[in-house]
Amino acid sequence: MNPDRIFILTGAGVSAESGLSTFRDKGGLWSQYRIEDVASIEGYERNPAKVLEFYNLRRRIHRDVQPNAAHVALGRLQREWGARGGEVTICTQNIDSLHELGGAQRVIHMHGELGKARCHDCGDVTPADGELSLSLGCAACGRVGGLRPHVVWFGETPLELDEIYDKLAAADLFVSIGTSGNVYPAAGFVAAARREGAVTMEINLEPSENAHLFDLARYGKASEAAPAWVSELIATV
Ligand code: NAD
Ligand code: ZN
Repeated sequence: MNPDRIFILTGAGVSAESGLSTFRDKGGLWSQYRIEDVASIEGYERNPAKVLEFYNLRRRIHRDVQPNAAHVALGRLQREWGARGGEVTICTQNIDSLHELGGAQRVIHMHGELGKARCHDCGDVTPADGELSLSLGCAACGRVGGLRPHVVWFGETPLELDEIYDKLAAADLFVSIGTSGNVYPAAGFVAAARREGAVTMEINLEPSENAHLFDLARYGKASEAAPAWVSELIATV
């Protein structure tokens, strides 16, 4: 197989070995909070201070994490494929910046980015390295108290979907890494890519909800299985 255009979808599992807990990890961050309180628009409208506090905590944890071998391998693949005239689209559900730190040049963050803030009033998006609080004002519209994490919550529409579906339609190979296949629309990408004729593969610790939709599968840790796949691909093409 010589896939010119590769679409890679990643989820929490690709960052797990960097120390960021997945949503179902026992004892992980999500077991200490109710999703509907901290990751929904209703939760934010009910108690914005609590939501900001939750994301400030995540921001502090993120400051100390490093990309793992999976992020580095995917960054290498994207650069090498680009140099050969192909294209690797990296689309992540993660809000961390570990793909970029691992050497990826372009990443679609369909669920937003922890390192950015968005004004709830005017929609302006700005880099935000520090913590968010209700006393901050928006640089664009001036309103105080409306700066929220640039993160897509339940009840909101993921970002860059037009570009994502264009890239899925053009893909020769679709690879899903470290995602459970529970949250739509991302969970529907494998079916969309298949319909358009792509070969599909999953790399995950265990079969995902969509396991039957993948032509190929490699089960194991992302930090081992992803670099092994990338090395084989680069060596054989
Ligand atoms: P997930 O936690 O649902 O699934 C992670 C997957 O990674 C699992 O299938 C697991 O087997 C696998 N995995 C764990 N460690 C791994 C490793 N070392 N190597 C390879 N695979 C590994 O995460 P997701 O699929 O990214 O969730 C999708 C989206 O759901 C998230 O981006 C988020 O926006 C949203 N979300 C979900 C929940 C929830 O409870 N489902 C809560 C909040 C947000
Ligand atoms: Zn504003």
